[in-house]
Amino acid sequence: MSTTKKAIVDPDKCIGCNTCPLIDPDTFEMETTSYKAIVKPTAPPVNEKTEMACSSCPVNAISIVED
Ligand code: SF4
Repeated sequence: MSTTKKAIVDPDKCIGCNTCPLIDPDTFEMETTSYKAIVKPTAPPVNEKTEMACSSCPVNAISIVED
């Protein structure tokens, strides 16, 4: 059985740097009032761009977890 993975953002860590939506705009967007990154409801399965965004976050706010 295959497992799927999803990205999650810790809003307490996110500093709103806008890096993750630039790298993976299909998965991440900035929430317009808090200006913290959120995972889109329409996000595709975790892919190379998602992993790149995760590793590029300056405060390690993004985790990739089993869905
Ligand atoms: S890269 Fe990290 S700090 Fe920057 S917006 Fe995304 S989650 Fe927030």
